[in-house]
Amino acid sequence: MSSCDLYIDQIKQLVTVKGFSQQAARGASQQEIGLIEDGAVAIRQGVIIAAGPKKELERAGWKSGAGRYLNAGGMIALPGFIDPHTHLVFAGSREEEFVARLRGEDYLSILEQGGGILHTVRATRSASAEELFRAGKKWALRLSEMGTTTLEAKSGYGLDFVTELKQLKVIRELNQSLPLELVPTYLGAHAWPEEYQADHPGYLQFIIKRVLPEIARLKLAEFCDVFCEKGVFSRQASKLLLEEASKLGLKPKLHADEINNLEGAELAAEVGAVSADHLVAVSEKGLKAMAAAGVIAVLLPGTSFILQKGHYAPARQMIGAGVPVALASDFNPGSSPVGSMALIVSLAVIKMGLAVEEAITAVTINAAHALDRGERLGSIEPGKQADLILLELDDYRQIPYYFGFNTVKVVIKKGRLIKGG
Ligand SMILES: [Zn+2]
Repeated sequence: MSSCDLYIDQIKQLVTVKGFSQQAARGASQQEIGLIEDGAVAIRQGVIIAAGPKKELERAGWKSGAGRYLNAGGMIALPGFIDPHTHLVFAGSREEEFVARLRGEDYLSILEQGGGILHTVRATRSASAEELFRAGKKWALRLSEMGTTTLEAKSGYGLDFVTELKQLKVIRELNQSLPLELVPTYLGAHAWPEEYQADHPGYLQFIIKRVLPEIARLKLAEFCDVFCEKGVFSRQASKLLLEEASKLGLKPKLHADEINNLEGAELAAEVGAVSADHLVAVSEKGLKAMAAAGVIAVLLPGTSFILQKGHYAPARQMIGAGVPVALASDFNPGSSPVGSMALIVSLAVIKMGLAVEEAITAVTINAAHALDRGERLGSIEPGKQADLILLELDDYRQIPYYFGFNTVKVVIKKGRLIKGG
């Protein structure tokens, strides 16, 4: 008899996305979702020990040796969604700006006038750590209700020393107290703070000399990110910050080529970034550089849907160039107040031309690689952490088809049922 803590069967379709733990799926392989009809999974001590056709697992004795049995009742199973780009911790909301944009105002000109990101900066600076924790917890639990089991969370709504550290400490506290994994990223270079509007070099030095060393000392962030964009951080400033962060052990990420092409993709390749995110305005040359350096493209179609009047990242061109594609929500109060990864899959297939299978690898194994966690997370195969979700659907292609519904009924994180069951 083979003993396990939890055994799940009656899984109509088991989407494993197996075989990419060492390297992200790219090119034609991004369609390989490892589909098993009538599947079963066995879990022991938070780790998957067997996953495959039900008959095989039964024959191996996993069912009879199970501490707990869960009948999936014909639902489909996927690896838990991984959201590799969010701005989870913030105060306030920006529906007024949303309505202004609907009336035709432009995102970057709102920022230039001291609104947009700077509006959230003012609200976040005046919020207490407890208030930020409560808000962050509310949003994180809403995301997990919809199947997200791991998410990245950025600072960047403080810009000053105290608030940036406050945000990162709240992210750490959320990671410790919720049944979700949060990956912290420092994004001090999200906008120029009001007090440094006339002294941009001074702000860069402040980040390099004061903030980065303290974040590294307290191990508050795993990644460092920069909003490389016209009117925000130039290519040169972004390069300087990411190189300084790397020296302190923070891995580089980049908001690259979102609205204007500043050769952010090329910069991501040059500094060895784990991912380059957005990429709506990326060039063919930028994609070649990313493919050669193994940089993952994190695409954020929610932002394009809400903000950019029909301009989406050229996802097909990326797959053709051999760039591994991941998807994220970009959840934030300004340019992407969306948290459902299933809805992101819908947008990716409807608006960016990804195949359903490509979008599924993009929200699971490739998203895990975009957070440097591909060896541990993102697929259902022996040895992987047991993060999986059950959706009340008959076929995985219904994930984008029934758009806007939350069909996630069961969420399992590290072998523990955190929703349903
Ligand atoms: Zn972002």
